[in-house]
Amino acid sequence: MSPDTTADDGATAARDADGHAVDRTETAAVVVVGCGPGGAVLASLLARSGVDVTLVEREATFAREYRGFGWNPSVVRLFDEMDLLDDVLALAHETVREGTFTLYGEPVRVLDFDVLDTAYPYALLMEQPALLELLVDRASEYGGSTSGRRRR
Ligand SMILES: Cc1cc2nc3c(=O)[nH]c(=O)nc-3n(C[C@H](O)[C@H](O)[C@H](O)COP(=O)(O)OP(=O)(O)OC[C@H]3O[C@@H](n4cnc5c(N)ncnc54)[C@H](O)[C@@H]3O)c2cc1C
Repeated sequence: MSPDTTADDGATAARDADGHAVDRTETAAVVVVGCGPGGAVLASLLARSGVDVTLVEREATFAREYRGFGWNPSVVRLFDEMDLLDDVLALAHETVREGTFTLYGEPVRVLDFDVLDTAYPYALLMEQPALLELLVDRASEYGGSTSGRRRR
């Protein structure tokens, strides 16, 4: 990946990590705009399929405002199908198998993944930036590239 380049935001020239203006043109068969979970997964899958893909992100860091941090069983299955699950589980995370709240002093189970017919009866809670780094690195291994203001 090329995390040390700055994409032109339309108002100013592109700049490198030291703030110097750079003249840079990239071509790709597919450009994925936005490196949230959706864009990062899509770019990784395309790169794995041999598609010439570039992923662009406008923010300087993955530690931006984000909302998605809970991955349900179907997403866990997706990670496994992407041969990514072991790496995902190596990231700091919490595993959720059930959820309860207390009503009049009694625990009430409101969430139970065991009722699902799945090999992955749990959800994962984790910070999104580390997952995005993993997805982008995997896409890079497959030959994808990134452009953006992202800094490690
Ligand atoms: C209030 C709220 C709570 C939520 N809670 C959860 C939750 O607990 N668990 C969960 O799984 N999901 C949750 N979601 C859904 C969550 O937002 C999505 O699961 C996830 O963020 C979607 O990923 P995405 O990649 O499609 O989009 P986003 O995460 O929105 O990523 C889009 C990316 O594109 C970039 N971008 C946008 N425009 C441009 C541009 N012009 N050029 C370059 N880059 C650009 C943005 O900077 C961003 O990085 C919640 C959503 C909301 C609104």
